[in-house]
Amino acid sequence: MLPPIPTTLIGSMPKPGWLTSEWFSVSGKWRLSGDALSEALDDATKLALAEQERAGLDIVCDGEQRRPSHFSYFLEQLAGVDFATLKPKARRGGTTTMELPCVTGPVSLRAHNTLDDYSFLRRLTAKPIKMTLPGPCTLVDGAYDEYYGDERALALAFADALREEIRALANAGCQIVQLDEPAVTRLPDKLHAWGVEALDRAFEGIDVVSCVHVCYGYRSRQRGKKQWKHGYDEILPALAKTGIAQYSLEFAEPDLPASLLEMLPGKTIQLGVIDVGSEQVESPETVARRLRAALEVLPAERLVAAPDCGCVALPRNVAYAKLNALVAGTQRVRAELQNRT
Ligand code: ZN
Repeated sequence: MLPPIPTTLIGSMPKPGWLTSEWFSVSGKWRLSGDALSEALDDATKLALAEQERAGLDIVCDGEQRRPSHFSYFLEQLAGVDFATLKPKARRGGTTTMELPCVTGPVSLRAHNTLDDYSFLRRLTAKPIKMTLPGPCTLVDGAYDEYYGDERALALAFADALREEIRALANAGCQIVQLDEPAVTRLPDKLHAWGVEALDRAFEGIDVVSCVHVCYGYRSRQRGKKQWKHGYDEILPALAKTGIAQYSLEFAEPDLPASLLEMLPGKTIQLGVIDVGSEQVESPETVARRLRAALEVLPAERLVAAPDCGCVALPRNVAYAKLNALVAGTQRVRAELQNRT
């Protein structure tokens, strides 16, 4: 039984320095290989879980320790995607170019890595688990298409592969599955054209709590700020029409008004109350203030407390301190709710 305003991660925790020096890579830059790497990935996952449990999070994740990046880990599990020859693709409105895997044939799931990761975590904790996967729009953005020639067709093929993994997770007892869609804030036209259809298709007919994470990513190392070309107000009305139960949104770093949440009637909100782009640790009162603002718009039953985005880019001690602040601030608001009744 979850407490009011349960706390959770977005998905990732920082990786230990002995595992890798890179918090983001497409193909994986590990310090070890073979059996030693497998053992290290297991150990890193156990540490990421232990830190979430020690901080007192109510819904835990695997910390995405096995993932070189939030999107390439799933692409590696697909037939029809070639990682041997990466090709350059302009991204982020042409401001960066990234070497990406190629879609060279029909896409289909050939391994259940996320299910395996869930099963590993399930053996280690009694807490509810949220597993994350990249969303269809983010997968289209993260691959170089040489086969479909049509982004909607590719997005729906990705959605079908995702649905197979989501169904496997649900059948294994996973409580929440979240699709990460950071790409839609840069590409709202694609969300409107086929992204919403693909999101619904990924969860179609599956009995699981569905969630979609929509964010503005991390601050660019070069520019020191996020890409804010399109506000949530351009995106949320379309997301409101889906069958998705929960949305995970960032509200801390941009300090957005909670009134935006009125655009998602009936949806549960995983509210970002921790800035993952700053090493300054929030006070519990800052967390509590952000949750109180959301409670002006939402009932407590529809509120979950979370960071803005994954914690992967933070130093480990800072991430842990921020999770402590998340829990302490949420406990303050829970006590206030209890005093009111
Ligand atoms: Zn994010």
